[in-house]
Amino acid sequence: MKRFGLIGGMSWESTKEYYNIINERIRHIKGGHHSADCVLCSINFNEIESTIKKGEWERSNELLLEAAIILKNSKAEFIAICSNTMHKCVPFIEENINIPIIHIVDSTSKEIKRKEIKKALLLGTKFTMNEDFNKKRFEMNDINIIIPNEREQEIIDTVIFDELCKGIINEESKKRYLDIIEKYCDLNTGVILGCTEIGLLIKETDINIPVFDTTIIHAKDIADQGLL
Ligand code: GLU
Repeated sequence: MKRFGLIGGMSWESTKEYYNIINERIRHIKGGHHSADCVLCSINFNEIESTIKKGEWERSNELLLEAAIILKNSKAEFIAICSNTMHKCVPFIEENINIPIIHIVDSTSKEIKRKEIKKALLLGTKFTMNEDFNKKRFEMNDINIIIPNEREQEIIDTVIFDELCKGIINEESKKRYLDIIEKYCDLNTGVILGCTEIGLLIKETDINIPVFDTTIIHAKDIADQGLL
């Protein structure tokens, strides 16, 4: 088994899901008492949240690079970032340190293609929905991305930061999310839960539409890569 590194804490509400899913998958595949050989570098989310809200991406880049270096020095053979939004820092990490990164968009794209879906609604933070860093990569992987309108993006983003990242699960917010998903999606147009906390609110069983939960998909891919 390879040692891998997780950059987590963004937020820790979803990092604990990663840790569970990865270990459950390794136990399922290897049996016995096998569990992940992993190192977690968990960043203080207060600092991340304030840097991204102020648009100080240079600082976010530095924080994530520092975490990647800690993981590499801990002999991790590859790393994964437990947040969609913070994949914006991937090019900076790649420029400054030589370590493979399991990219959340590549893991998710493989799963979307496996289900033969070509178009999907992307839900996530405003950065993820509006900026190109993840959208372009989906499109390079031949997946057409649609995003909600501005008012809906505001609802989605506010629920992520003010509720889900604080461990608050609100039924009214769930209904608002499901209304948005139903407006844009059908059996051929899936929905990407492109923020690692959204799976705490919306489950695949809530809706009769192909759902791609980036936390579950990414965590399983990380476990599989660790076992290669
Ligand atoms: N976990 C989130 C994501 O997947 C949002 C919080 C953050 O900015 O990292 O995008």
